[in-house]
Amino acid sequence: MIFDNHNRPITYLRLAVTDRCNLRCFYCMPEEGIKYLPKHQLLTYEEMLRLVRVLARLGVSKVRITGGEPFVRNGLMEFLEQMAAIEGLRDWHITTNGVLTAPHVPDLVRLGVGSVNLSIDTLDRERFRLITRRDELPAVQGTLDALLEQQVPVKLNAVVMEGKNTEDIPALAELTRHHPVEVRFIEEMPFNGEGSHYPVLTWTYQRILDELQRLYPNLQKLPDPAHSTSYLYQIPGYQGNIGIIAAFSRTFCGSCNRIRMTAQGTLKTCLYDSGVLDVRALLRSGATDDELTAAFLKTFAHRPKNGFEAEQQRAPVSESMSTIGG
Ligand code: SAM
Ligand code: SF4
Repeated sequence: MIFDNHNRPITYLRLAVTDRCNLRCFYCMPEEGIKYLPKHQLLTYEEMLRLVRVLARLGVSKVRITGGEPFVRNGLMEFLEQMAAIEGLRDWHITTNGVLTAPHVPDLVRLGVGSVNLSIDTLDRERFRLITRRDELPAVQGTLDALLEQQVPVKLNAVVMEGKNTEDIPALAELTRHHPVEVRFIEEMPFNGEGSHYPVLTWTYQRILDELQRLYPNLQKLPDPAHSTSYLYQIPGYQGNIGIIAAFSRTFCGSCNRIRMTAQGTLKTCLYDSGVLDVRALLRSGATDDELTAAFLKTFAHRPKNGFEAEQQRAPVSESMSTIGG
């Protein structure tokens, strides 16, 4: 296992397989979308498989496939089949908006997916359309049904946004009554391709917790798993759990074990850095596995202590989460 310069193990890779998406979520992209990368600038699946192999040898045992929307890239299932067979990879997961996912659920199960994170910010069709700028809630609900039917472990991601979906907090929390899912309420981060939506974030993790405690005065705290980014709770008697993710307040950096690879092959060792290694350039200049390994190790030895330090070290930009990979 490798440790960074702050003695944190690096065991988890979040791999963005595309920057493209079939939704336009308010918190992630402007309405007109972002300028997508030309195809030759994206990592190929072969390049991604090579990276996962090299990183698995260094101790990365968990991979999350994300994007953009992973299922809009052609050939995803064939890629997953090969990735799932990589030696040293203990578990892999996928984050999806669920629009195109339902038909693939049986194959995800066959390939041994560890869990699926499904983004669903509201259960109200009109609010869903306003938030994502597409009328796709029925398709997303179809994916949720398929995942539950196939007993895939599911986490539901909901970004909490002032004036957009705070009235959905109870309905989303109620999903945990009869389903063994984790509903995760996420602080909005300023990664929407346009700059911050608010002068200050009002729906902080503390406010989300206050609201949940108001709705459920007997809300119980559960132990947080190691390296988890969410504070876990449960409503007594309910089957599922509730997580609160302080993505903007960044309370979890001290135990962060994750690195990110953007769709164009830029390594980020913190969500808030601007990319610290051009892996695509290395790959395409003919670097050997040993050279790649050396470059990774050097980068891991200079990881920022936390998201605030990383943010200070970068130029202010308006990135979209779709290019970062969430
Ligand atoms: N398209 C897939 C999806 O939406 O699930 C995967 C990529 S998306 C960028 C990954 C996660 O990041 C989603 O759960 C989404 O809600 C979250 N996300 C995107 N932009 C965000 C933001 N500005 N603040 C907080 N979470 C965000
Ligand atoms: Fe697409 Fe996911 Fe971003 Fe929404 S959050 S626009 S579904 S990449």
